[in-house]
Amino acid sequence: MTIPFFDGHNDTLLRLLDHARADKLDLFIKGSQEGHIDLPRARSAGMAGGFFAIFPPPLKAGLAQVAAAPDYAKGQLPPQLDLADAQKSTLGMAALLLQLERAGALSVCRTAAELKNAMADDSLAAIFHIEGAEAIDTEFQSFEVLYAAGLRSIGITWSRANAFGTGVPFRFNADPDIGPGLTDAGKELVRICDQRGVMIDLSHLNAAGFRDVAAISSKPLVATHSNVHAICPCTRNLTDWQLAAIRESGGVVGLNFATGFLRPDGRFLADTPIDLMVRHVDALLEALGEDGVALGSDFDGAMVPAEIGDVTGVPKLLQALLDHGYGEQLVRKIALENWLSVLERTIG
Ligand code: ZN
Repeated sequence: MTIPFFDGHNDTLLRLLDHARADKLDLFIKGSQEGHIDLPRARSAGMAGGFFAIFPPPLKAGLAQVAAAPDYAKGQLPPQLDLADAQKSTLGMAALLLQLERAGALSVCRTAAELKNAMADDSLAAIFHIEGAEAIDTEFQSFEVLYAAGLRSIGITWSRANAFGTGVPFRFNADPDIGPGLTDAGKELVRICDQRGVMIDLSHLNAAGFRDVAAISSKPLVATHSNVHAICPCTRNLTDWQLAAIRESGGVVGLNFATGFLRPDGRFLADTPIDLMVRHVDALLEALGEDGVALGSDFDGAMVPAEIGDVTGVPKLLQALLDHGYGEQLVRKIALENWLSVLERTIG
């Protein structure tokens, strides 16, 4: 039995954009054994769709520094990006997403109905997501263009500051309550997203920004790829009050597979058991209820447990949840239905 799943976060478009090979579309469509997600592996695993993040990368050295420093303890934020640089990389990844759609590899979905139609047609259902709003100008002109291209989910910040807000530094044994809240432009962005049906993603945002979104938005609060701070006290994870606020709003949290956000010691080690992922799901269910827990792998953007390996390992996690005693109905909610429900209530 293959349980279909929908994933709250992947960085596959960045992997393709950065790849040296010219045939970037074929890398995804025909597949390779590189990275975590391509079309053949996604389909064989039962991946029905997911959020395809467009992440304007920091300078290469900056990204390498983040990846190479598991105890990134100094807590400094990477430098801010220029609008022009962010637009260049964002448009590069958006172009790849749209080219993949034109090639028939996936469907960019603008509504919950389109998600359901794509899945019924056996097409990989993609949500156009930006991880960091750096490519959006404060007059919101590029917002209109990106929205028209299919943008339906915005992480206001990655782990840095921008014109709209401030993200959490990657700090272990630390609280996400670091730094200022949203700017006036950030508050306006939340209002616009609320009106237009663009989901706000709280992963990476600091606590003050989280509170601002909660105060302004009328929609469910969502963290697409974050875990439980009480188990792994990393700034990227959610504290008790944040989980309570998400539950109260009818929101959802996607389980992040990144080992450094799973492990109680905060280390990025491939030798991390699936049991620890189950422990986070247990805690998320306790905090959020059965409607509030989903998946948010961070595939192609983070080191995941070796037992998972890549997208073809997701069925092992779902089997582990069944073996743990969850009924099939609950596992199907976690795997797919909770994402569909919250998207219906945010993007419409
Ligand atoms: Zn992320």
